Amino acid sequence: MYITQVGAECAPVAKVGGLGEAIHGLSRALAEQGHQVEVILPKYDCLRPDLIEGLHRAYEDLQVPFYDQWLACSVESGYVDGIHCFFIDPHSDHGFYQRGRIYGEVDDPGRFAFFCRAVLEFLLKTGKQPDIIHCHDWHTALVPVLRWEVYEALGLKRPRVCHTLHNLSHQGVAGEYPLRAVGLDPARLMTSDRLLDRDRPHAANLLKGALVYADAVTTVSPRHAWEILHTDQGMGLQETLHTHSHKLRGVINGIDEGTWNPRTDPHIVQTYGPEYLPGKARDKRQLRRQLGLEEAAKPIVAIVSRLDRQKGVELMRHTIHYALENSCQTVLLGSASEPWIDELFQEIRRHSDGSADCRLILEYDEALSHQIHAGADIMVIPSLYEPCGLTQMTAMQYGVVPVVRRVGGLADSVFDANYSDQAFEEVNGFLFDDPTPAGLESALRRAIRLWFRYPAYFRQLRLNGMHTDNSWSGPAQAYLDIFEGIRA
Ligand code: ADP
Repeated sequence: MYITQVGAECAPVAKVGGLGEAIHGLSRALAEQGHQVEVILPKYDCLRPDLIEGLHRAYEDLQVPFYDQWLACSVESGYVDGIHCFFIDPHSDHGFYQRGRIYGEVDDPGRFAFFCRAVLEFLLKTGKQPDIIHCHDWHTALVPVLRWEVYEALGLKRPRVCHTLHNLSHQGVAGEYPLRAVGLDPARLMTSDRLLDRDRPHAANLLKGALVYADAVTTVSPRHAWEILHTDQGMGLQETLHTHSHKLRGVINGIDEGTWNPRTDPHIVQTYGPEYLPGKARDKRQLRRQLGLEEAAKPIVAIVSRLDRQKGVELMRHTIHYALENSCQTVLLGSASEPWIDELFQEIRRHSDGSADCRLILEYDEALSHQIHAGADIMVIPSLYEPCGLTQMTAMQYGVVPVVRRVGGLADSVFDANYSDQAFEEVNGFLFDDPTPAGLESALRRAIRLWFRYPAYFRQLRLNGMHTDNSWSGPAQAYLDIFEGIRA
């Protein structure tokens, strides 16, 4: 099958979070199965060109309509971890992708609407007719709309579009201008059964457009597919999702085992695997040395996360206090999305400065994230909602026992050591329901107690996690089945 992935991120060249890892991991898995896969991204100034092999200009002078002008773009091409990537580079005064970051600009709806139009124009002009265009999140939501409304008639007839929802809390809600900018007719499209936002009059909801126009819609875990249909996690799109529920499926993400593998990880001092767990003890000593923590017979309770409301920042704070009160060490690596959250954690850091048991690193640090995975014993993920979540899976891969809230993909991938129906060799962590300190403690207490009192059982949980199949091979097959079902 010929599959074109279109997204705002692809790890490791343009990664903010799980979206970038998913596009990268899925593309690799599909390519490994022999399918023709390419990824199209904006050419951000903050891309990592050092990680792109053979970067060269593949197309000159791609003219893309924007309002009543044509903007000239070039398209560059190269390989990222063996994946064929194209980068759209507009040459205009707007500087759409010259902002030093991927998201967070006031004109995001316009910048990404332009990207959608440029992608389709590129496919048309180069005569590419993929079987499937696989789009992700609101940034690419106008691809299915434009393909049907504009490009079908221009000759882009073959591709069918699958749209994957990674995070419904961002929907690309704006006035009608992004539609007008890319040549769509707001008067025709802004109706309640198409792109008109449910709650904001006169606003276009780009993501809603993808739900309406895509041939298949997926989200990143089966549990989250249910949650967005039946709970407020649908974030205002429940009605549209119900109307189109026949094309909605949940497919859990995998992790890229090339990137997350303690047997080969170049970031850690001692590689290890389930057959050689003592190696992990050396990484734990190294992590302590590196962060200035005391060498002691204590578990390391870790958090590696964006510090965002969604991720349960209050419960993260409680985790730190509870772990320290219960004779553990604790390490948090995270960067805040809002000033008040940053201040909250800066405050904890000031208090814990000089502590032998606690370190907060308030930045984004890929290498340290791997080192924490290698050195930690318990990983806490107290998300309020979590469409899939990768950290519980990467934690398991490194023999770290996850303690997670029972939501979304966390509930689909972590099986409680005490209260699950799974076979003994399949339980791999601890879950809690209530997003409260008491709820968190109900799971974290069990994990900590097990570490201190029943080390052999704790070790077995580590091994169960390391043997859990969190690879992309199952999910890639599930996507292929969906693609097969919609292809022309
Ligand atoms: P989301 O995409 O919502 O942020 P995921 O769990 O799907 O959450 O993916 C987050 C990814 O980003 C994980 O691989 C995690 O390890 C990584 N990550 C988050 N914060 C940091 C950080 N401060 N430094 C390094 N890696 C981080």
